[in-house]
Amino acid sequence: MFALKILVTDPVHEDGLKMLKNEGFHVDLAYGISGDELKEKIRDYDAVIVRSRTKVTREIIEAAEKLKAICRAGVGLDNIDLKAAEDHGIKVLSSPEAPTIAVAELVFGLLLCFSRKISYCDRMMKEGKWVKREALGFELKGKTLGIIGLGRIGREVAVRARAFGMRVIYFDVYRPSSEVEKNLGVEYRDFSDLLREADIITVHVPLTPKTHHLIGEKEFSLMKDGVILVNTSRGPVVDTKALLAALKSGKVSGACLDVFEHEPPREDWELELVKLPNVIATPHIGAMTVEAQRNASVILANKIISMFKGEKL
Ligand code: NAD
Repeated sequence: MFALKILVTDPVHEDGLKMLKNEGFHVDLAYGISGDELKEKIRDYDAVIVRSRTKVTREIIEAAEKLKAICRAGVGLDNIDLKAAEDHGIKVLSSPEAPTIAVAELVFGLLLCFSRKISYCDRMMKEGKWVKREALGFELKGKTLGIIGLGRIGREVAVRARAFGMRVIYFDVYRPSSEVEKNLGVEYRDFSDLLREADIITVHVPLTPKTHHLIGEKEFSLMKDGVILVNTSRGPVVDTKALLAALKSGKVSGACLDVFEHEPPREDWELELVKLPNVIATPHIGAMTVEAQRNASVILANKIISMFKGEKL
């Protein structure tokens, strides 16, 4: 009896790999493998585990002789040719649930950093300056938070916002039951009403053709003067040039950004945005916690084990 073989081409947390080995899978590591090498090697494997680096192209999929699953540790399937996988009856598994808490906590890290000028104060302290008077901030309590996209992350953000004493309104193309709304303590608004009513807007939608530049010049014009925007979803969901103009005019008083149209930012208008004093920027660290990294591998391993259950291990 032969063990099913899994090739791992990008580093994933060892706990998930241990689970697979304990279930009898043969796990080979090939971190950093090139596309050409993968095309050769993949013939022997039943599943491949990747993160975002490895491009699983049609050419690679067509070279595979017994591949049954392409497994992405974490979120985002843009590096996998999904149509080619479907054409060959190959399942695509991923673990988008893994970074939910990490991203929700980051939203509040960014917001508090902005509302209490934490990174500014820290920078001044390191320069030997005591800037108490300039550090007047504001409280989150009593502010209206508008959540666009009440999915996994949006809901965890709502829970934390309520704990801060915020009023929470949301817009989503899919409206959950009134029971869910009641439990979360959130009120539905249509898109334009949310834009008009919120003091702080946080975006948690996936990037699709429909959400590309979902927030642009027209949307900014509807928002309250002095609104704060948080984007930890995907950079292109917000029109950066329109955001830059809104920040410069004072329409938007601050932006907290973990994601950018280009990563790292490279265009003049992106670099200018990041350098503004009322912008808090982080380099796409939403999922960068020990727990989220471990979850990505453990959740994926569970899905792989369930999928192959019934097959000989
Ligand atoms: P999810 O699928 O659970 O939730 C997304 C929600 O957006 C859904 O409820 C969906 O109905 C809603 N939606 C889709 N299109 C919409 C639209 N046009 N208008 C309003 N709502 C719309 O996803 P999630 O796990 O909550 O993640 C949200 C996004 O966060 C991901 O798609 C990803 O792009 C991003 N993300 C970023 C990081 C990071 O490192 N910063 C990490 C994980 C996820």
